[in-house]
Amino acid sequence: MVKTVFLGIDLGGTNTKVALVDEEGMVLERSIIPTRAVRKAEEVVQDIASEAAKLCKRFEERGFKVQAAGIGIPGLIDWEEGVCLLLPNFPNKWKDVPIRKWLEEELSLPVAVINDVRAITLAEKRFGAGKEVQSLVMVAIGTGIGGGVVLNGDLYIGKDGAAGEFGHLTVEPNGLRCGCGSWGCLEAYSSGPAMVAQALRALVHQSDTLIRDMVENDFSRVSPKIIAEAAQKGDTIAVEIIERAGYYIGQALSCICVVVNPEMIVIGGGVAQAGELLFKSIEQGLRERLFIIPVDTIRLVPAQLGMDAGAIGTATWAKERLEKGVIG
Ligand SMILES: [Zn+2]
Repeated sequence: MVKTVFLGIDLGGTNTKVALVDEEGMVLERSIIPTRAVRKAEEVVQDIASEAAKLCKRFEERGFKVQAAGIGIPGLIDWEEGVCLLLPNFPNKWKDVPIRKWLEEELSLPVAVINDVRAITLAEKRFGAGKEVQSLVMVAIGTGIGGGVVLNGDLYIGKDGAAGEFGHLTVEPNGLRCGCGSWGCLEAYSSGPAMVAQALRALVHQSDTLIRDMVENDFSRVSPKIIAEAAQKGDTIAVEIIERAGYYIGQALSCICVVVNPEMIVIGGGVAQAGELLFKSIEQGLRERLFIIPVDTIRLVPAQLGMDAGAIGTATWAKERLEKGVIG
């Protein structure tokens, strides 16, 4: 019997993951290639397509049928046209790159395009933390802050695919300038780079912190991971940075909750590995700001699918777009 599989592509600034995923969200095989994003978009896409084609060929020889491909994009997209509008963290910015057309030509498969964190949200809903609920919001904290919304059991992405851009909720009306052009966005306070900036400020001001010794005075080594390790050792500055980041996330979540009224909040992304302290601070921020919904009835949980979530989500997005007859 022919077994159906879907190709999931998770485009990242450093590495790109290409995986074959079955209908139950299991990754059957994955391949990770360096994105080398300094190159032209055409060359990057060509490399991804040739790696994907190799993977597909191996599986088709073993009796599998690859039905469609999904790609998750870390930036702004026209998801209906399958065009990258802007990848802010890529050196060439990928303005108006027709990525779906290019991949469809190279792979001879229907291709669906989605924002990377929306894909992770879909994966967590179908196969991870949110399997049992009908409504959830996801917040992924990393280099940026992204998110996603599930309503009535389905991913809700909005008219422009931007539903879930929680990093750009205002948390300080006259606050720090954000990369998006506005001021006081959550991302300017609680993302990985925002936390690093606060640690660097403390170091420059000669504050008493373990971080200095942990990076052996090489400030370029300060990272969210180092800050989390310092906090675990009881470092006051590091604890304050994580508590502040978590508090702002909780505050933003209180706004999200009165719009969506979700059953569950899923917290993911690399910075979320700061663990217990961050979760407690998020919960505290939520409790201080949310009164019209009982906070105890909202399940605040970590993401479950880890590093494969992007590939699982993009493959699943391709499957669902194909089933709805939107691609193919
Ligand atoms: Zn912003």
